[in-house]
Amino acid sequence: MDRELLTARLTGKRLIAAPSQTYLLDFELDVPFEFLPGQFVSVVFDSEYPEGHPKAGQPRQETRAYSLADAPRGNQVQLCLNCVGDFSRKLCALNIDTTIHFHGPHGTFTRREGQQPSLYFGAEAGIVPIRSIFREAVPANSTLMQTAATRDDLLFRDEFGTAPDVRYLPLVAPGDDFIAAQVRKLLTEHTEIQTAYLCGLNAAIGPVRELLKSLGWERKQIVFERYD
Ligand SMILES: Cc1cc2nc3c(=O)[nH]c(=O)nc-3n(C[C@H](O)[C@H](O)[C@H](O)COP(=O)(O)OP(=O)(O)OC[C@H]3O[C@@H](n4cnc5c(N)ncnc54)[C@H](O)[C@@H]3O)c2cc1C
Repeated sequence: MDRELLTARLTGKRLIAAPSQTYLLDFELDVPFEFLPGQFVSVVFDSEYPEGHPKAGQPRQETRAYSLADAPRGNQVQLCLNCVGDFSRKLCALNIDTTIHFHGPHGTFTRREGQQPSLYFGAEAGIVPIRSIFREAVPANSTLMQTAATRDDLLFRDEFGTAPDVRYLPLVAPGDDFIAAQVRKLLTEHTEIQTAYLCGLNAAIGPVRELLKSLGWERKQIVFERYD
């Protein structure tokens, strides 16, 4: 199925975490772009099949998903990504005024009905859709647990650290056991937390999902987005 491709022009680019090579990219569309905080877009690049492939030299389209990093702002959108492979490096290397194509919005990593206290857990770049949710309206009485390899990689930590009415728990290079202990402690002390939003690579959020399930949490209480 052909999807409608939207065009966006790069208007700003900033390296916001040097150790993880994380860039914040600003784009502008010709038309307003509506989405729900927490959703993502699929960026499409035209390229060619590489040498050695049976279709070498023939055109192909490559697609990667990227969470929207800000709340809806008319025709402005922000992406925030780590340069880890060919596609993400190409996106981060774009020059100002270059255009890209994407389709979307997609995804269901969005706030559920009601305003119950929740646990938000963002591992590394998995914090990006959570930032989008928080930029629209900081969820009151919630807990935000953020993990990263170094303090500098705690993306948007200044915004989260000053958000009102949020318990902010930044964790630097925590092991799975430490994270599990923190989550257990939190849920024991705050039994009102009945929903969790988890985002990041599966190696980071998988153990938290398993822990919640082992504590008797139901599927619908755990909202998650896997980056791989
Ligand atoms: C719904 C969804 C939303 C996503 N949103 C974001 C986002 O907002 N920001 C973002 O940086 N990535 C995001 N990703 C990951 C993104 O789509 C790509 O997988 C990533 O950019 C790597 O693609 P690549 O082709 O450059 O490297 P690849 O060659 O495909 O991957 C290289 C390696 O990096 C790992 N990897 C994938 N994503 C990351 C990451 N973010 N940080 C560290 N290692 C990673 C892969 O598992 C693989 O081992 C999202 C993925 C999904 C499914």
